[in-house]
Amino acid sequence: MSAPAYDDGPIAALRRIAFLLERGREDTYKVKAFRGAAAALLPLDPDEVAAHVEQGTLSSIPGVGASSAAVVADAVRGVVPERLARLEAEHGGALAAGGHELLGLLRGDLHSHSDWSDGGSPIEEMAFTALELGREYQVLTDHSPRLKVARGLSAERLARQLDVVDAVNGQLDGSGFTLLKGIEVDILDDGSLDQSEEMLQRLDVRVASVHSKLRMDAAAMTRRMVAAVHHPLVDVLGHCTGRLVTGGRGTRPESTFDARAVFEACAETGTAVEINSRPERRDPPTRLLELARDIGCLFAIDTDAHAPGQLDFLAYGAERAEAAGIDPERIVTTWPKDRLLEWAGRPGEAG
Ligand SMILES: [Zn+2]
Ligand SMILES: [Zn+2]
Repeated sequence: MSAPAYDDGPIAALRRIAFLLERGREDTYKVKAFRGAAAALLPLDPDEVAAHVEQGTLSSIPGVGASSAAVVADAVRGVVPERLARLEAEHGGALAAGGHELLGLLRGDLHSHSDWSDGGSPIEEMAFTALELGREYQVLTDHSPRLKVARGLSAERLARQLDVVDAVNGQLDGSGFTLLKGIEVDILDDGSLDQSEEMLQRLDVRVASVHSKLRMDAAAMTRRMVAAVHHPLVDVLGHCTGRLVTGGRGTRPESTFDARAVFEACAETGTAVEINSRPERRDPPTRLLELARDIGCLFAIDTDAHAPGQLDFLAYGAERAEAAGIDPERIVTTWPKDRLLEWAGRPGEAG
């Protein structure tokens, strides 16, 4: 019996393996080997790679280890690499049991990170994967300066990043996909934002999140969040309770605040409540999701992806939103790009 044919080439095989590992939440060190090997092969002539396969010298290429070499050899010979076939079977299926109809309506994602802050992959890899997943838009939202552990971007670095986003969009021109400019800006203790007004103005979409003093008392936390929601440049309230329900970072309880007051502020200002799809967050919890629904809030189903494979996590958020009976029309990420941008530019500006 001969192995099934494969003609996408070695780089696509390595990228797909990395994607599936991330999608299946495997350890990042495993993923790094495959992404590193893909990057090592990218500048090489395909004939050169084929010659290495022929001579059994793939591992002499810096960045190509034994398991990557086996994948490359199979792909070059035109057969499905065994590792790839195994991972497709293990991690390639539907992520969630429900929410498929809503998932089909989602056009984009307002929250993702690159290796400019605490993500694991370059901007172009995140953008290219979002395009491959059929997204119309992906917002790049690296962290703001105060979050030093996540290498938050100063105003200067953010300005440089915006040039890179323009360049990536130039490469993807005509694809129907746009990488949008954004930020996940820290909500400071007094409710102000951790980035200059001028830089915030230059962005398409702004997600504001609490990352520090998560245990402050409820009255102060409520004032802090309501103030941020009322900021005219804030479009999305990110992972509102800050809880962690599972995963490598352990668990963390919800912050305490007056959720009704916060969601009423969101409804009043047209700020979207984020449904954070990360399996370890599942934020907001169901009772708060239903409260925000009843108050009449807008929602954004976001991945908060820190790696390309995590861009597929929208399935988890869609499942929860559908279970909570949220009208897709109130989910801004079902909207086409032009409508989304009009909403995000809403503080009385042109358009
Ligand atoms: Zn965050
Ligand atoms: Zn984030």
